[in-house]
Amino acid sequence: MILFKKSKDISNYLAEKGFREQSVGFVPTMGALHAGHIGLVQAAKKNGGLCICSIFVNPAQFNDVEDYHKYPSTIEKDIDALEKAGCDILFLPSVAEMYPEDFNKEETYQLGFLETVLEGKYRPGHFQGVCLVVDRLLNIIRPDELFLGQKDYQQCMVLTKLKELKQHACQITICPTRRETDGLAMSSRNIRLTEAGRKKAAQIFGTLSFLKKNLRAGDCRNLKLTAIKQLTAAGFKVDYLEIANAISLDTVSEWNGKEPVVALVAAFIDDVRLIDNLVLTD
Ligand code: AMP
Repeated sequence: MILFKKSKDISNYLAEKGFREQSVGFVPTMGALHAGHIGLVQAAKKNGGLCICSIFVNPAQFNDVEDYHKYPSTIEKDIDALEKAGCDILFLPSVAEMYPEDFNKEETYQLGFLETVLEGKYRPGHFQGVCLVVDRLLNIIRPDELFLGQKDYQQCMVLTKLKELKQHACQITICPTRRETDGLAMSSRNIRLTEAGRKKAAQIFGTLSFLKKNLRAGDCRNLKLTAIKQLTAAGFKVDYLEIANAISLDTVSEWNGKEPVVALVAAFIDDVRLIDNLVLTD
């Protein structure tokens, strides 16, 4: 695996090599890698593609400074895991490299409704920061394919919108959420859970599965309230738990029995904010 820290070096290298025969797959991450991230690398490697992974904890997407400072970092382990997974190139820039003095950090992205609900509502500015960094990364790397995880459902929609807004040429491939054996979605933040919190955290998937099992055509507001009560009783502080149209993210109060719906949740345990989602109509 080749490691680059400077954007000029990686873009010059990619331009020189050409890689016309191979599809260039790109996996942006914030590090503290787990099997969910490695699944994206494996997807990029399928069909003989060249895989480029980036690790950059992006200050612009943290609405809470403390959360940024507490974000886990396991860089040596990450490099090892990427090498084992066959990742070809790692881009590991510093903050100064990603956001140099002359870089316009004020760019705003017209995300519309997507930015006003769920993560957008509870983390103001978060998706602008995500777009800022991914837009910059796509301009540096210019991949054929961008690999994202369904774990961040709304982020996948935001980045699909970014691709349209900025006319990035890459295809977007969304990979399924990888889970621990008890159902907890893998997340870099799981490292920060206490032992007791880690055990409780599996309830998030339990509640999402409860919604999937019990969803019926008609009013679904009571079902949603029951699910919120379940999480609160288990010790979670729930930011939101919503049933939404899987394509538009519009809230669904009355399900018509046909439209695709997804349940999305964000909840704190041990001061660690976890998010997850499950399509209820698969
Ligand atoms: P992050 O490092 O958390 O910014 O995530 C980097 C990429 O990995 C994003 O596209 C995430 O959606 C994806 N990802 C994170 N956790 C998982 C998971 N458990 N399963 C699949 N993809 C994931």
